[in-house]
Amino acid sequence: MTNTCPSCKQKSDNVSNLALQSHLKTNLNDLKGTFFVCTTQKCQIVYFSTQLKQQFTKNDIHTRFGLKESLNPRPICYCFNHSIQDIETQLKTSKNCDIIEQIKSSMKLSGCNCEIKNPIGKCCLNTIKKIIQKINPDYNTNIKQCCLKKEDS
Ligand SMILES: [Zn+2]
Repeated sequence: MTNTCPSCKQKSDNVSNLALQSHLKTNLNDLKGTFFVCTTQKCQIVYFSTQLKQQFTKNDIHTRFGLKESLNPRPICYCFNHSIQDIETQLKTSKNCDIIEQIKSSMKLSGCNCEIKNPIGKCCLNTIKKIIQKINPDYNTNIKQCCLKKEDS
């Protein structure tokens, strides 16, 4: 399968060439193939294309990719600076996590730029939802849509 990470064999999501270029240390002007992003924590591969037989590891990107880290800081929302440890701390101390609401209201005010800032190349809300539910499976995160842009339509 083309979306299977060559190292950890997990199915991975598509990532835009725009995101790829903003996180890679090297400037690749002629990226034409489809790339995928591996989010497995312990896997060294970040971006890969089985079609182009090309892969990039954590050492090839200049962004700290929170999902791939086991030590803090582990950034998760790159537009408004929230981290995995923020989510864990909130859930531990108050059993409530308002980070999603915070992000949504910040998006309303200033918009977001996840396509470029987030190494997964898209909105972080679905990832945050998964993290919350992993810690507390009963938690109702109440996200109907991913990005606010889509929510308006
Ligand atoms: Zn992998």
